[in-house]
Amino acid sequence: MNRKKINILNILFDYVTKGSLLQILTKRIEENKKTFLVTANPEIVMHAKADPEYLKIVNGADYVIADGIGVIIGSKIIGNPLPERIPGFDLMQDLLKIGNEKGWSAYFLGAKKEVIEKAILNIKDKYPNLKIVGYHDGYFDWNENKIPEEIKQAKPDMVFVALGFPRQEKFIAENIPQFEKGLFIGVGGSFDVIAGAVKRAPVIWQKLNLEWLYRLIKQPSRWRRMLALPAFIIRMFMMKFSNRKDYKKGTP
Ligand code: UDP
Repeated sequence: MNRKKINILNILFDYVTKGSLLQILTKRIEENKKTFLVTANPEIVMHAKADPEYLKIVNGADYVIADGIGVIIGSKIIGNPLPERIPGFDLMQDLLKIGNEKGWSAYFLGAKKEVIEKAILNIKDKYPNLKIVGYHDGYFDWNENKIPEEIKQAKPDMVFVALGFPRQEKFIAENIPQFEKGLFIGVGGSFDVIAGAVKRAPVIWQKLNLEWLYRLIKQPSRWRRMLALPAFIIRMFMMKFSNRKDYKKGTP
């Protein structure tokens, strides 16, 4: 099947809705296909612009989806609108729900020890049929092979990696060749939300696409990182206008 990709500052985003993505991922998990999925927001796009190694990792993933309203706005600015925003947190919740119904297995890596432990308790409570085959906090010796070895032995259907970007994608890309199967996703601060350590924006803020503002108010220390959003939007306009000039140049 031909897949439509939208190029946003050199990141190739999949043109896909959450519903059809879930169908695709379910099928791939049931067929024991290995999948690396990146949920990319403007911060990730801007980071990849400055880090060619990271750009290669992101574009090397099987799926890159638009997490963050900024990416959707950006796609509209350049006249190639993506169908919808797919928040990584929502995708993870849906996958856990399907996994619970189907009895899939899952491994969780990331966050502080007390956070991941609380998150696991909450996941066990909410998704009792999901097989949790292992978990580990996100503060480990990168050069030690203990965690990849655990994942390799357990062969989970899904592996959620919450180390923040770019670490989570780097961890997945570095280790995925040694795994036989499984869906691998970087999920940022999701375990903190599941553990109740960080609150997600109320639904109304989410609906108004103001989740970023809520996060900024709650965690003002993020302001420097969040400058990536206006920088990203400015870049998108620059891209739009330079394309227009190129177009004019090329028109007889
Ligand atoms: N984290 C981790 N190991 C590290 C650094 C961060 O497990 O070496 C965890 C951190 O505890 C948090 C998560 O990564 O749970 C996401 O952090 P952040 O909010 O910075 O990431 P983002 O959501 O912006 O990707």
